Parts: sequence; C-alpha cells; structure tokens
Amino acid sequence: MISYIFPPPAQTAVPIENSDALFPVRRILCVGRNYAAHRAEMGGDDREPPFFFSKPADAIRNQGDNPAYPTVTKNLHHEIELVVALKSGGANIPVSEALDHVLGYAVGVDLTRRDLQNSAKDKGHPWDAGKAFDGSAPISAIRPWTGSPPQGRIAIAVNSQVKQASTIDNMIWSVAEVIAEASKLWTLAPGDLIYTGTPEGVGPLVKGDKVEGEIDGVGTLTFTVA
Ligand code: MN
Repeated sequence: MISYIFPPPAQTAVPIENSDALFPVRRILCVGRNYAAHRAEMGGDDREPPFFFSKPADAIRNQGDNPAYPTVTKNLHHEIELVVALKSGGANIPVSEALDHVLGYAVGVDLTRRDLQNSAKDKGHPWDAGKAFDGSAPISAIRPWTGSPPQGRIAIAVNSQVKQASTIDNMIWSVAEVIAEASKLWTLAPGDLIYTGTPEGVGPLVKGDKVEGEIDGVGTLTFTVA
C-alpha cells in the first residue's frame, strides 16, 4: 500500500453556479496582451501576438475568500478578465472544435505585482514573482455555458469607481482561438482554467479596497484586499 510522507496537497476547486458540484482546478493559464488598448498602455508592439504565462492552481481565491495584499510589492494592480473553464481537453485542438471543450465561464482578476513584473521585463527574467503569487487569481463561481462565448461588457470598479470597461469582443484572440493556441503548446485537460487577458485601464490597489468585477451574462466577483 502506498503512503505519502505527508498528506498530499488539498485540491483547489471553484464552485459551479446552481450546483453542489465543484470544479477541480488542474492548471491556470493566462493570456498576456489580448486587448489592443491594453497592449498599447503596456508599451507593447502592435504587431506582437498575445502570449501565455501561468499561475499555480492554489493562487485561486473564491468569492468570500479575500486575497491578502501580497508581500514585497509596492504596486499591486487589478486586471479584470473573462475566465474559461474546460471540461475536456487535448492537444492541437482546431478552432472549429475548441468551444466543445468549454464547461463555462467565470469573472476573474489577474492580480499583478506590477513593479516586480516591470523589473523582470527589464532584466529579461521570468514573470512568476509578478504574476504567480499566493492569492493572485480571484474568481467568481463558474456559470455553465453552451454555444457562442460571452461578447458583452467587461468592467471593474474599485471603491465604486469604474476603472476598466470594455467589451469581450475587443479580444485579439477569441475564446476559441485562445483554446486552440494554448493546445498547440500544452495538452489541455479537464480542470484547466484560462484567464483570457485584460482590457485597458489597469491600475493600483491598496489594502482595504473594495473590488467589483462584472461580465455581462457571466456574473460578478466582489472582494476586498485584505
Ligand atoms: Mn492579465
């Protein structure tokens, strides 16, 4: 009989709306620079295609589990994002079949230590310290979904002031293209979440800020920076 030297890590999970079942999280992929206006505010080249980075599964913070202001940084930023939850996967998935793998969508925030990310960019270092820290992936419940992905308004308010507002159809890579592109690089599987990128208007958060994200038809996410 196999025994572990200590108990295996707890399975991170996200609630599914109107269900007792939980979505077990395997991996979190994130798209960088998937909205042209955000790519411009980050100083990106307008011919550069979007790209991927990742966060650990336990970076997830569900609604009601407020993320703590992270260590080391002096410039924590919000990035409101549509999150895709996969019920199946594979490698080299064609765009035409990509949406068949979607269980549903959620509202997510890609919390970013912008100062550490910028210094990593300057030095050509990895982004992990800027992006993949504890509590860096707040998320709403997953809304099950079939058919065409959400296309409507995506917005975030900090202390009731709207900071980012755009529409999902401004994404450079559509949801189907994001899945297809990711599956060229990694074999996707049930339990994978993909944060699909943020529109323009990213900005700082401080301890005590009340953050309210909303995506038309998908839901809302509210948390306070603890
Ligand atoms: Mn992002």
